[in-house]
Amino acid sequence: MDISFAGKRALVTGAGKGIGRDTALALARCGAKVTAVTRTQADLNSLVQECASITPVCVDLADWGATEAALQDVGPIDLLVNNAACASLQPFLEVTPDQFDQSFNLNVKAVLHVSQIVARGMKARGSGGSIVNVSSQASQCALRDHTVYCASKGALDMLTKVMALELGPDQIRVNSVNPTVVMTDMGRLGWSDPEKAKTMLSRIPLGRFAEVEDVVNTILFLLSDKSNMTNGVTLLVDGGFLAC
Ligand code: NDP
Repeated sequence: MDISFAGKRALVTGAGKGIGRDTALALARCGAKVTAVTRTQADLNSLVQECASITPVCVDLADWGATEAALQDVGPIDLLVNNAACASLQPFLEVTPDQFDQSFNLNVKAVLHVSQIVARGMKARGSGGSIVNVSSQASQCALRDHTVYCASKGALDMLTKVMALELGPDQIRVNSVNPTVVMTDMGRLGWSDPEKAKTMLSRIPLGRFAEVEDVVNTILFLLSDKSNMTNGVTLLVDGGFLAC
């Protein structure tokens, strides 16, 4: 399936590493004018070196005021990927207010904020658009030591659905992708212990973790007009983990 984003403007958060970085590069390869947002300047420098057409924006998305300022001149956006997130792992009884606030600030509140900024422009232009939130299988399945992460991704799934409901009449589609483990920096944090990995792998019918490319391809599909009638879904990229 050929997908072209020629003439489209895309914004990807958390584009410095992992899934976000490869999504930004894939969108640029498909012809989109990409704005890459992340908080580490060195990652943006290497991204622009790899793909000169990408516009870098360096900001900590957990900071509401800084985000407002950083995105005010970003211009019209047709495609948004809310990908930046953090995972802080600890047993339920040891979760602290700070860990909770940091995760919800980035994994939920920043998604709401960036989406408001972008969707206001889409609505004002009457041009429609597509938003993809990067959620997780953890939104729908309890994982040990993942209290805050699971809760934040569960909240993100509902945010996705309400956004789909309210923005749909303006032809702005909102969906999420919900991957299983991907061996990025974040994936390694939770799953590099071979015993833990074995337990998770044994519950995935396809018998492997997802590759970054598996997730990127699904994001591209949801952003594209190949999914024109798809709105408000949480699309699993989990090899069947949640089916059994
Ligand atoms: P990585 O940790 O590899 O990359 C995350 C990116 O987000 C980094 O560039 C990071 O920058 C950036 N980022 C983090 N915090 C902020 C912030 N406050 N402001 C701006 N940018 C920030 O993560 P993945 O690629 O693995 O994850 C991407 C998405 O996929 C996330 O939403 C995650 O929850 C989801 N996901 C991941 C899975 C996995 O196993 N990897 C499984 C299921 C879902 P920096 O490095 O500078 O902090």
